[in-house]
Amino acid sequence: MITIWACLCAGDVLLKREGPTLSLPVGDEPPVELQPWNVITTLAYPLAPATQALASTQTMAPPQTTTTAQKQTNRNGQDRCDSCQVKVVRLDRPVTEGEGLEMMNLRSSFDVLDSLDYAIAGKAAELIYWDSNTKFCGCCGAPMKFHTEISKRCTNCGKEVWPQLATAVIVRITRRDTDGTEEVLLVHANNFKRPYYGLVAGFVETGETLEEAVQREVREETGLTIKNIYYFGSQPWPYPCGLMVGFTAEYAAGDIRLQRSELSSGGWFTRESMPPIPGKSSIARRLIDDWLLQEQPESSPATSAVP
Ligand SMILES: [Zn+2]
Repeated sequence: MITIWACLCAGDVLLKREGPTLSLPVGDEPPVELQPWNVITTLAYPLAPATQALASTQTMAPPQTTTTAQKQTNRNGQDRCDSCQVKVVRLDRPVTEGEGLEMMNLRSSFDVLDSLDYAIAGKAAELIYWDSNTKFCGCCGAPMKFHTEISKRCTNCGKEVWPQLATAVIVRITRRDTDGTEEVLLVHANNFKRPYYGLVAGFVETGETLEEAVQREVREETGLTIKNIYYFGSQPWPYPCGLMVGFTAEYAAGDIRLQRSELSSGGWFTRESMPPIPGKSSIARRLIDDWLLQEQPESSPATSAVP
């Protein structure tokens, strides 16, 4: 049995460096000294399907199926198999010493970790967040106890809870200019930490379909109406407990009127006039890259960004 340690502290994940590569620590013993209360839960290792989609550049890629040989190797050459287990650990304090050990912001770890290890770290972060937010029953106030690896039960009234997802939609909207040049709608949201342009996104509201949420968010944030909404792909977004669902759509009507409480700027961009765009870890980038790689018969230098 191979044990993989997903140890986190305040949004940072503990990594093991071997030469130039970083991965989640592996071994029978924990990578650092732990207290009994540090280990949140033990999970089976999630073989390929869900996590492979994250790294896939192909829209709607079918899940990679592992048949008889339930075994694979991550990019660091480490064995990963169905007899692996993951121990999810909430550290009391950041690890500052230990040979080859270092802590890294979970989001930054996408750029250095194997996609499977990153997915595990993300799931661990979500479970730790969920655990710390469900110590007591929402109905009667009594303490909650783990019932399974991913559920808790109230010690008094028996109410069960599972980790809840905050579902968000994100949409790539394109249109043809009068001369036939294709443009994409990009926006800068007030909560973006860097000066890049991304896609319209927002949380799904109660009682809404995903497609309705896409239409509403676009209407609210830009004043535009859209058509031909199609599913593109999805991505766990463990910051702290999200699921991002990506769509493509076409412009139907309207002029851009930005919702200033959400967006500081935005406009239509051609493939030749792209502003800085989000990093590789996001589904926003996958949606944009997918469009950039599509065939484009003509080009135009014009853009119409709203300052
Ligand atoms: Zn209760």
